[in-house]
Amino acid sequence: MIKFFKLRQLSLVCPDCETVFASFELARTPPVERNTPVETDLHRVLPDPELRAALLATCPNCLYTWWLSSFSEHHFLPQLVPDAPPLEPSKKFAHAVQTGRKKNVHFLDRGVLALNGYWCSREEGKDGEKFLKLAKLELTSALADETWFGNRPRYNYILAEVLRLSGEFTEADKYYQQVKGANLPREMVEKMRSFAASGNKAPVRLPPHLVEEIFVPKAAIGA
Ligand SMILES: [Zn+2]
Repeated sequence: MIKFFKLRQLSLVCPDCETVFASFELARTPPVERNTPVETDLHRVLPDPELRAALLATCPNCLYTWWLSSFSEHHFLPQLVPDAPPLEPSKKFAHAVQTGRKKNVHFLDRGVLALNGYWCSREEGKDGEKFLKLAKLELTSALADETWFGNRPRYNYILAEVLRLSGEFTEADKYYQQVKGANLPREMVEKMRSFAASGNKAPVRLPPHLVEEIFVPKAAIGA
């Protein structure tokens, strides 16, 4: 099985100002397996912040930033077009939240970007406090929107984790209580709830059997 990540340079077109520029995309991601590092807020820990940053592209002309998968590729060789601006990896997520506000995308989409900014910050070796605050704000608004019919139980759990990581234990508990129906292991939810009750705001690594239960497709086990 391939164990390494790989980045590839490509040319993209900015959907906002049509500038063609070079960016890196994640060309290869090893599949999640039992021992892959995953934390209890359900994110995979990546070995380098540039990898998560490569999920986004930033236009060097207008700073429009969004998921790379939403850009169209251009046939110019990446060596022949301007590079994406040299931003610190986690900064790209701050730009993406900005773009999301300008474009009026839903709180949930902005919340997910802020969360990725937090994870990217952590991968840079920082605490990601600012992104955690932003994720809390956007996800709270998303869940307060009665017209939003996404996977509410799952995001109740994610927001509970964001609140626990922020040290807001009483608030966190309210959301842990609304996780029913999320198709998440009860063992994990109860454990994190007890961590919040005892005032533990540390990031927690998910044990291998739960990584397997949540992320590894049944057919891949033992393959
Ligand atoms: Zn642009």
